[in-house]
Amino acid sequence: MRAAAAEILFPKEVIDRRVRELAGQISRDYEGREPLIVGILNGAFIFMADLIRALDVPCRVDFVRLASYGAGSVSSGEIRIGMDLETPIAGRDVLIVEDIVDTGLTLSRLVEILRKRQPASLRVCAFLDKRERRRVPFTADYVGFPIPDRFVVGYGLDYNEKFRFLPDVRVLGTSFEREGV
Ligand code: 5GP
Repeated sequence: MRAAAAEILFPKEVIDRRVRELAGQISRDYEGREPLIVGILNGAFIFMADLIRALDVPCRVDFVRLASYGAGSVSSGEIRIGMDLETPIAGRDVLIVEDIVDTGLTLSRLVEILRKRQPASLRVCAFLDKRERRRVPFTADYVGFPIPDRFVVGYGLDYNEKFRFLPDVRVLGTSFEREGV
C-alpha cells in the first residue's frame, strides 16, 4: 500500500516552502560562486534534487555513499567512504547535503575526511535535525526543520529501504506501523 497510516509530521506543501527558503538563503550565501553539492546516498537524493532546482546559483553535483566498519550501524561513528566523490574538491566550495543529523557522528566524520582534501569552503545542509540526540558536537550550517526524537520516514528517508518514496515526512511510531504500512 502506498499511503501510510503513520502520523504526518511535515506535509509536502510545508516541505516545498521550506526547501525554497533554504535555497534562497544558500543562493545568497554563494552568490557569484559555483558550489559543488555533495549528496549523501541514499537518503539525501530527493531533498537534494528539490534543493538544487530551487537555487539561483549554478552548481555541480556529486555523491558519496558511506559505509560502517564491521557489522555496526552507521551511527557507530566508525564510518568510511564506501563510494567516493568523482570530483577533486581542493579549492572548491563544497556543500554537503544530508537527510538527517541524529547523533552527529556521521557528519562530523565526513566533514573531517573531506576537510583533509582542502576545499575552499565546506558547509553542511541537513533537511532534518534531531538536536537532542547528539553524541558529538555538530552544527549544520543550514537546517530544514529541527525535529524531536522520533523515527521519521519519507521524502528520501527509509525504514529498511521502505517508504523513501513518500512525498511527506511521517513519524513511524509503533512496530505495527513499521510492519503494516
Ligand atoms: P548520525 O550519525 O547523525 O547518528 O546518523 C545519521 C543517519 O542516521 C541518517 O543519515 C539516517 O540514515 C539515520 N537516521 C537517524 N534518524 C533517523 C530517522 O528518524 N529516520 C530515518 N529514516 N533515518 C534516521
